[in-house]
Amino acid sequence: MRFEKEKPLSKLTTLGIGGKASFFVEVKKEEDLKVALREASDKKMDWYVLGSGSNIVASDKGFEGLIIKIGIKDFKKNGRRVYVGAGNNLLDFIKKINGLGLAGMEKMAGIPGTIAGAIYGNAGAYGTEIRENITRVKIFDGEKFRWIKNSECRFGYRTSGFKKNKDWIIVGAEFSFGKRKPAELVKISRDTIKLREKKYKPGLLCPGSFFKNIIVKNLKPAVRKELFPKIDRAKIMYGKLPAGYLLEEVGAKGMSSGKIKVAEHHGNLFYNAGGGTAHDIKKLAVMMKDRVLKKFGINLEEEVQYLG
Ligand SMILES: Cc1cc2nc3c(=O)[nH]c(=O)nc-3n(C[C@H](O)[C@H](O)[C@H](O)COP(=O)(O)OP(=O)(O)OC[C@H]3O[C@@H](n4cnc5c(N)ncnc54)[C@H](O)[C@@H]3O)c2cc1C
Repeated sequence: MRFEKEKPLSKLTTLGIGGKASFFVEVKKEEDLKVALREASDKKMDWYVLGSGSNIVASDKGFEGLIIKIGIKDFKKNGRRVYVGAGNNLLDFIKKINGLGLAGMEKMAGIPGTIAGAIYGNAGAYGTEIRENITRVKIFDGEKFRWIKNSECRFGYRTSGFKKNKDWIIVGAEFSFGKRKPAELVKISRDTIKLREKKYKPGLLCPGSFFKNIIVKNLKPAVRKELFPKIDRAKIMYGKLPAGYLLEEVGAKGMSSGKIKVAEHHGNLFYNAGGGTAHDIKKLAVMMKDRVLKKFGINLEEEVQYLG
């Protein structure tokens, strides 16, 4: 294990912004995680766990503490059950299980990041969420390694109990899958990736969707009453009103703050055109939230996670 000093967060996140972290370490084995945490504790440092940094807005000031990247890559198959280390890349994992004829996550192909990052935010796409195939998650809770059952993970739309228990570190997860022909699964994943690339051009510096979509059934009656006459209800998909639609209605497309821009083709896609800052992105986010609240009475909530 190698502790690095002054690691630029811009190199650890897909948005490509952020100052430096005082220390950085990649953990490839469970036991090394304890060593990393002991180091942080001995030095009285804060720590933050990172996967691939694909859902992160890192502070321009950086992070005073230790960034722990989870790189644990175990993979064990037992029938339709698979145990996978938290640091495995999600797409690599999906390709592997597709090839084994294990069905359930094929439509999640193309979501960047690691297994742990996906569990933390209950990542999903096209009507599938990672929670659907998880049986249990293995964590380090600060004292010991232990298992958390799916029902204890408190999964919800782009959320999980891990957001509340910040000292729980995901080290792996066990999944259970259905069966289908590998060729069919491979085709579904390939088609999904092609579709996704229309929205996210390869190499774009972004954190995915910036704001969460709105779960219509959770809206208070008074909010619904104000909202519905102002929107095209045909836009509601899988019970969610896309934040991108509301943002487009308030003129988000093509807007910018410094080098942070809102895509011309999607109101909920903020990207770094080169040299963007967290300051710019927060300014743009506040402006967009304000406009949506004024016009529709809806409080947009960030899907991205702020670091530092
Ligand atoms: C182009 C693009 C498209 C995207 N499309 C989608 C999409 O369709 N659907 C979707 O859901 N998301 C999407 N995202 C967002 C992102 O890919 C997901 O949120 C992804 O699951 C994050 O994984 P990560 O490993 O990069 O996590 P990170 O961004 O590194 O971390 C995200 C959060 O997880 C926490 N975390 C990471 N590892 C651990 C761990 N081991 N233990 C505890 N906490 C941990 C971090 O502390 C952080 O708070 C997209 C992002 C991009 C860049």
